[in-house]
Amino acid sequence: MESTTYLIPPESDPMGRAIADYHSTGKAKRLIVTSTMFDDDEMPVEVLFRGFDKMPAIEQEALRLASGNILDVGAGSGCHALALEQMGKKVCAIDISQLSVDVMRQRGVKDARAVNLFDERLCDRFDTILLLMNGAGMIQRMENMPMFFSRMRQLLAPGGKILMDSSDLIYIYEDEDGSVDIDLAGDYYGQVDFAMRYGNIQGDSFDWLYIDFGTLSLHAELNGFTCRMVKEGEHYDYLAELQVAE
Ligand code: SAH
Repeated sequence: MESTTYLIPPESDPMGRAIADYHSTGKAKRLIVTSTMFDDDEMPVEVLFRGFDKMPAIEQEALRLASGNILDVGAGSGCHALALEQMGKKVCAIDISQLSVDVMRQRGVKDARAVNLFDERLCDRFDTILLLMNGAGMIQRMENMPMFFSRMRQLLAPGGKILMDSSDLIYIYEDEDGSVDIDLAGDYYGQVDFAMRYGNIQGDSFDWLYIDFGTLSLHAELNGFTCRMVKEGEHYDYLAELQVAE
């Protein structure tokens, strides 16, 4: 993993630039997502600005359940943070994209900070930690699980909870007859490498973890956390609630 204090340099921040353009002009170029594992894809920039009504049901549920002092991790344009503030809730929004944090401030997010989740200079305590839009991706790799859970322990107030969504990528490896073709000797099948491109801005490649609920529960338990299925989405996606085990 990169250094725990890593922030994305503005000159190589495709998504941050797309968010800044869309915020200031109402439109953006194509934001392209590449991976060595999949075909190129496009991320519609307006999706990053979705209001509560346009959010998937699992995200709406996460916002309803969020309480107390809330941390929105990887907050992007601030869509969830703003929805929470409209509900009268208190939220600290963090992101490693300085460009995105600037947009969040301009959009009215009261407490937006350019800081990495794993940077110990972030030392507040939170009742709810939100990781949304396949937020488990920020764990990056399976071997980071112990480090992720120990960081969560530092950040959670007593009785606090993590609300995190992810997807089971098993459907990508399923044949028409229902059989599954995965290399059991390789990395976990949900561990993906991505890079983004926006106009002539090419971002560095990064790891993103998609994890099925069963595997997440197992790692939670190994690291002293409980893991509960809150809600299943429409396509192999789900919202989980994790808490320090009593
Ligand atoms: N939650 C937003 C944005 C999702 S994109 C939404 O649902 O629209 C993921 C975001 O996480 C990006 O803005 C990226 O810069 C940020 N991010 C990735 N790793 C991070 C980390 N370790 N700490 C804080 N933010 C991170």
